[in-house]
Amino acid sequence: MLEPLRARLEDALDFAPLCGLLKKTPDGRLMHAPFALFPCPIDPASDAALRALTAPFNRLALAVSNDLDFLSEALAVAAGSDPFIERLLAIARAAGRRQPLQLQLIRSDYFLQPSGPGPLPQIRQVELNTIAASYLGLAGRVNRLHRHLLRDTAWSDALIANDPIPGVVEGVAEALRRYGVPGACVAMVVQPGEANVFDQRLLQMALSEAGVASRRVTLQQIGRQGRLKEGHLVLDGQVIAMAYFRAGYGPEDYAEPSAWQGRELVENSSAIAVPTVATQLAGTKKVQQLLATPQILRKFAADSDAARMEAAFAGIFALEQPVESENGSQPAWRAALAEPGGFVLKPQREGGGHNLYGEEMVQRLNALKPAQRGAYILMERIRPFLHPVGLVADGTLSEGVGVSEIGRFGLLLAQGDELLRNDDLGYLVRTKGSEVREGGVSAGFGFLGSLLAMTPEQAYGTIPPNFPHPAAP
Ligand code: ADP
Ligand code: MG
Repeated sequence: MLEPLRARLEDALDFAPLCGLLKKTPDGRLMHAPFALFPCPIDPASDAALRALTAPFNRLALAVSNDLDFLSEALAVAAGSDPFIERLLAIARAAGRRQPLQLQLIRSDYFLQPSGPGPLPQIRQVELNTIAASYLGLAGRVNRLHRHLLRDTAWSDALIANDPIPGVVEGVAEALRRYGVPGACVAMVVQPGEANVFDQRLLQMALSEAGVASRRVTLQQIGRQGRLKEGHLVLDGQVIAMAYFRAGYGPEDYAEPSAWQGRELVENSSAIAVPTVATQLAGTKKVQQLLATPQILRKFAADSDAARMEAAFAGIFALEQPVESENGSQPAWRAALAEPGGFVLKPQREGGGHNLYGEEMVQRLNALKPAQRGAYILMERIRPFLHPVGLVADGTLSEGVGVSEIGRFGLLLAQGDELLRNDDLGYLVRTKGSEVREGGVSAGFGFLGSLLAMTPEQAYGTIPPNFPHPAAP
C-alpha cells in the first residue's frame, strides 16, 4: 500500500491546502502544514482503550484542579527554584474564583509500546495537556486529506474518521448559554505572530457558524485594556464570557508585566477560563509524577478509574525517589546516570524543547544541586512500535522508519458539582522519525496524521520484535 500512496504525493500536495491543512511561514506566506503521507496503524482494541481513557483523565484533571492545597504542596519545591511556577501558584491561591462553570479542553498524549509476547501493545501516557492543547482544528483537516488519498484503495474503509471541532463548538456554546450574558464573546488568547494560526481560525470559524462570536487577543491586551465590571471581564465595552488560552503556558508569554496583569484579570473575573490557572497547574509534570503514586491517585479518582489510568502510566519519578533496578534500590537520578538511554529528564515546562535526553540529561543531572532536583522529574523512556513513515514538509517527502504519538482530545463541562459533559472529541496523530525526540509539529518535529484501524502487521507487514531503535542514545 505504500506505493499507491507515494504515487498520490502530488495529489496530496494539492489537496492539503484545499482541505485547510495550512500553516503560516515566518515571512507570512501560506504553506501546507507538515503531514504524514502514510497513516498510523492501530488495532481496534487499543483504539477503544485509548478513547475510554479520556473520561477518567478529564475527571482527574477536574478533581486535581479543585484542590488548591494539594497543588500548593505538590509544587512547593518546584516553585522554590522556578519563578514561573511560583507566580502561577500565587495567582491560583489569591484568586477568589466565583465562576461555578468549568470548561476543560485537554489532550492526553500516548505512545503504544510493543509488549513482547502479548498480542496487544501497552498504552503509555506521555503527558496530559491542560492548557493550549493544539491541533483540534488541523487534526480534522489531515483526516479529510487522508480520506481523499485513500479513496478507492484497500485501506479506505479502515481510516478512522476524526474531527474534534464540532464537539468543541457544542461544549463552548453550552458554556456560553449558561454564562447567560447576551452579546458576550469568547476571547481566544493568542501569541503574537502565531504560525499555527489556521488551527485556531478553524475553531473561530466553526464557532461563528454556530452563532458564537470570538475575537483574538493577547495577554498584554487584556492586561492593558481589560476592566472588571460587576465581576465581568470587559474589553472595549464587550463582555468576555470565556478566555480560551492558546498562549500563556510558558514564561516567554509573560515577558511584559501587563501579560501577568492580563492573566490575573481573567482569573479574578467571572469569565470562564479555559483553563484556570489551577487547571494549568494540574497538568504540570510534577503533578503527573505524584499522581502515579497509587494512594495519591485514589484521593482524586474512583478505584475503577484509577486502575484504568494506572495501566497507562509509564514509570515516572521524583529525582530522589528510590527505584528498583538490577543493582538494587537507588535514587532515580542515580538510576538515570547509570542508564541514560532509559530515561527522560523533564522540567516544569510545556510546549516542547525542554526535555533532556542522553548526554545532555547526564550533564544536567550532575550539575543540579540537591535543592534544585525538586523542579524536575524523571520519566522512563518509552519505546513505541515502529512503522514506515512518509513525512511531508515544504512539499518534500522523506521516508524511513518512525513512530506515532496519539493524543485524545477531551472536553469536560461542569457547573459547581454537576458534571454536564465529559466527552472524547477525537484524536491527534503526530508521526515522526524514530530518531526524533521532541514531538511538536510547529517546531518541525512532528507530522500530522490519521489512524488506520489495522494492526501494524496487517498494514505494513512484520516488524521484527527486536528491531533496533536507531535513536537509542
Ligand atoms: P511538552 O510539554 O514540552 O510537550 P512532553 O512531555 O509532551 O513535553 O514531551 C515532548 C515530546 O517528547 C513528546 O511529544 C514525545 O514525543 C517525547 N517524549 C516525552 N516523554 C517521553 C518519554 N517518556 N519517552 C519517549 N518520548 C517522550
Ligand atoms: Mg507534549
